[in-house]
Amino acid sequence: MPEGDVVYRTARRLGRALDGRVLTRSDFRVPRHATADLTGRTVLETVSRGKHLLTRVEGGLTVHTHLRMEGSWQISPAGRRLPPGDVIRLVLANAEWQAAGVRLGMVDLVPADEEARFVGHLGPDLLGPDWNEAEAVRRLARRPETSIGEALLDQRNLAGIGTIYRAETLFLAKVSPWRPVGMVEDLGTIVTLAHRLMDANKERPSRVTTGDLRPGRSTWVYGRAGRPCLRCGRRISRGEMGAQPQERLIIWCGHCQPEEPTD
Ligand SMILES: [Zn+2]
Repeated sequence: MPEGDVVYRTARRLGRALDGRVLTRSDFRVPRHATADLTGRTVLETVSRGKHLLTRVEGGLTVHTHLRMEGSWQISPAGRRLPPGDVIRLVLANAEWQAAGVRLGMVDLVPADEEARFVGHLGPDLLGPDWNEAEAVRRLARRPETSIGEALLDQRNLAGIGTIYRAETLFLAKVSPWRPVGMVEDLGTIVTLAHRLMDANKERPSRVTTGDLRPGRSTWVYGRAGRPCLRCGRRISRGEMGAQPQERLIIWCGHCQPEEPTD
């Protein structure tokens, strides 16, 4: 699933192709907006907010999209044949470029002053201009009984983290994902780590959390379940966390990341 860094880069790519240009075509392939037509309007900007994308269009309209599990935006020169199949949910094109939203999880067209319907619930955005560490800590601390692993994925606490950054952040913080938030001594450290990791990766297409680009060494635990921990050598664990059907993969080292705080 695309995490905040991928969505951030997607917003930048969309911005380079669409911002400041007049739409010559819009094709909403979702029933609710099938008749919408943005032709003739200039795209003002595309911004990311956590894992959400907001494309603001002249005339007070916003196109809201979300990549969910497997969505992407494919950008190509105008007039190029679009990818075949029925997976395209939205096309926005100008005289030079066309952007095709493939397998998007959400497509909405709303008045710009109603953007909050989609992003108003989100906690501070790890890659946003208004990133606020203290507010993220405050929100995480609201439910001390929740596991820190679940709390980090809850976009109402802080926005942008998915399973990869969750696993890597908690490994670096030496905290088990199963530890209740109330037993995490320094939430600030965890939030700072998450921000630093995602910020360091926001411009590069291949994620590195270890500083080591070699294959199999670029992450501490994510993608390494069953293999030896790079720090202690013990086998890395894998499990599922969260209530069905929304349980999500969790990877951690049971030795380096104890469930109880240590002195
Ligand atoms: Zn370990």
